[in-house]
Amino acid sequence: MHEMSLAMSIVETIETEATHRGFGRVERVVLEIGALACVDPHALTFGFDAAMRGTCCDGAELEILTVPGMAYCFDCQKNVEISRKGDACPECGSYQIVVTGGEEMKIKSLEVC
Ligand SMILES: [Zn+2]
Repeated sequence: MHEMSLAMSIVETIETEATHRGFGRVERVVLEIGALACVDPHALTFGFDAAMRGTCCDGAELEILTVPGMAYCFDCQKNVEISRKGDACPECGSYQIVVTGGEEMKIKSLEVC
């Protein structure tokens, strides 16, 4: 379950930020997760709940926004939306596509007090 280690690295990142920027407590964390990032939001929330204990994120609310998977289809010569890696182009059925977005995961915003 790699969500647990992901959650721990998120909490670590936030703690580093907290030290640099001098905020004490995090109330809300908004994450952006690409549809192709292979992250299970439920498992990540669960991992985050465990990872935040005793840190500046303790008790913080976690919100997860999903970013659609994007790919470029060489046959259509345009960007199309795909739901998973290895999918064919939804418009023409071609496999001549390359993933261009939706694989990333990032912290979009933090609400602190
Ligand atoms: Zn296509």
